[in-house]
Amino acid sequence: MKELCLRALDVARGKGAAYADARIIRTRRQEIATEDQRVSSVSDGESAGMGVRVIAEGAWGFAAAPRLDNESVENAAVEAIAIARAAALAKAPEGIRWAREEPRTGCFRTPVRIDPFTVPLEEKIALLLAINAEVLKVKGVRKCHSHMQFKREWRLLANSDGSLIESETCTSGANYQATAVDESTAKRRNFSAYARNIGYEHIRETPLLAEATRVGEEAVAQLKGKPCPVGRKDLVLHPSHLCLTMHESIGHATELDRVLGMEESLAGSSFATVDQLDSLRYGSPLMNVICDNTMPHGLASRGWDDDGVEAQRWPVIRDGILVDYQTSREVCHAIGATRSHGSCRADSWASIPIIRQSNLGLAPGTERLSLEELIGDTKDGIYIEGTGSFSIDQRRHNFQFGGDCFWEIKNGRKGAILKDVTYQAITTEFWGSLDAVCDERFWTPYGVTNCGKGDPQQIAQMTHGSAPARFRQISVGGAR
Ligand SMILES: [Zn+2]
Repeated sequence: MKELCLRALDVARGKGAAYADARIIRTRRQEIATEDQRVSSVSDGESAGMGVRVIAEGAWGFAAAPRLDNESVENAAVEAIAIARAAALAKAPEGIRWAREEPRTGCFRTPVRIDPFTVPLEEKIALLLAINAEVLKVKGVRKCHSHMQFKREWRLLANSDGSLIESETCTSGANYQATAVDESTAKRRNFSAYARNIGYEHIRETPLLAEATRVGEEAVAQLKGKPCPVGRKDLVLHPSHLCLTMHESIGHATELDRVLGMEESLAGSSFATVDQLDSLRYGSPLMNVICDNTMPHGLASRGWDDDGVEAQRWPVIRDGILVDYQTSREVCHAIGATRSHGSCRADSWASIPIIRQSNLGLAPGTERLSLEELIGDTKDGIYIEGTGSFSIDQRRHNFQFGGDCFWEIKNGRKGAILKDVTYQAITTEFWGSLDAVCDERFWTPYGVTNCGKGDPQQIAQMTHGSAPARFRQISVGGAR
């Protein structure tokens, strides 16, 4: 495999590449889905190939080889050069400024105790069907869907800096959804072993079956839930909910390619422009947002990115001020940086690497504070768990979020279940209203496995963690 990568690099350099990388990826995915007491789908497939990326005549070229033999990878290298030469006809006058990087060698492996691909399909299906049976026992629940997903990805990257990097990651996750129905409506409640880079032990150690009755009951309770009030409320947001709010309002907004207008599909630009670096007040002084691709079990943790840059941990928002971005070797110079933070990843051997969100999270509060104490300190609010619908504008500034389950908070007590809660805010006003974050005992990571970006679209995964946090006087209700 190493020889094939080096062969592709030789051909690319021989044809005039100023920079080249060759990346072999072999991915195995297994997905199992059940509906009530039947298996609705099982898939288990493997894909392997090589992507060759070059800079020639100041422009990018990329081509992929679907077969791992000499002829295919040589052809891919020749085609990548031809594409770069064609692209050079329309390149920006300044060309590509490619940040220097020392050559790296090494091997990264996700720590795995139980390889999920060695666990028999029968065992996985039996667990999912047992969950469904338990959920369906709850009076008022009409349906239960459950799902498991596993991915193993082996990568070998060689580039013309002299780097040779190997990584093998393993991702495991499971989730289920109870649906309760009455005469007029349907309500859903979800539970997950949120995807992590870990083995099957994650599935065994998450109380999937033990929580089934509660999950079913909470779906039913939402049918009789009180309607969402309309007005301003204090929101206490659980990390299982905040993960999506952070992803959409901070994560995507701090991808430097989008900030620079180089990539704008899928609500793709950003209000957090480069001229505001070190001055934009993104949120309250309690807001500290850290990117961390060294995080154990993080979905974006794999040692190096596809630019060959070592995984790093860095703040993007410090004490509420925007201080950095998620960068690649191509764009980091736009903020005066000489090195990339290593956020450039491709979703397969057939895709060109683009800036993807790192593992990004809200740092826990420094004062001792539990979720119970936070709710106890809230007079008139709403507590939200899990993710639901959302929408956000083109510049990631104006948004609306739903959730999975909602409770009224009255005089420091978690009370009745509410239904159909939505909240609306401007990103900086929302984060500006952050006035309490629970401490590190309550900090929990949640995985996102379906982040879409790019054109053609690529699907990436990353982890967003936080502790429960409170946001004062946010506009709720009113959405239809
Ligand atoms: Zn996304």
